[in-house]
Amino acid sequence: MATTAAASPPFAYDSKIEGNIIFTRLDSAINWMRKNSLWPMPMGLACCAIELMATGASRFDISRFGAEVMRFSPRQSDVMIVAGTVTYKMALAVKRIWDQMPEPKWCIAMGACASSGGMYRSYAVLQGIDHLLPVDIYVSGCPPRPEALLEGLMRLQAKIEGEHSALAQFSLSAPTAEEAME
Ligand code: SF4
Repeated sequence: MATTAAASPPFAYDSKIEGNIIFTRLDSAINWMRKNSLWPMPMGLACCAIELMATGASRFDISRFGAEVMRFSPRQSDVMIVAGTVTYKMALAVKRIWDQMPEPKWCIAMGACASSGGMYRSYAVLQGIDHLLPVDIYVSGCPPRPEALLEGLMRLQAKIEGEHSALAQFSLSAPTAEEAME
């Protein structure tokens, strides 16, 4: 299939020209690898976790997005999916697991409870996991359908695509607004 230069992505691999050299930006290469190999920490706390499990099963097949490697060890995870009601009893355990995940890491708040406490305006429920840790993507719904979580995952991939990974990795200074426009 013919492609125009204008439509070319910043990073590409063409098996027909194997052995040739591909030029890209370091940020693009790092981000491309990161966004297509997210390893979720499934923080299933209530009913939303059932939808999270469905997302990993064959009908919705999260492995199409390279994110099927659910890990129950924080050391091996880089995206925490908080799925369910965060009670105060569980909140510090969630925070501890988040702290044990290595950088870079991202967080998806799945559903109304994880995003805002949902219908539980209660002394026992944290009113959103963003009170404890930085959330990158909020997925609405009670519960969200698996398609909604997959859209959240795609939005996280788009966010990762725009990160300055190499700059952060090698502690280089970020470009000024003028440099970024060049
Ligand atoms: S958002 Fe709804 S489905 Fe999800 S954990 Fe809360 S009550 Fe359950």
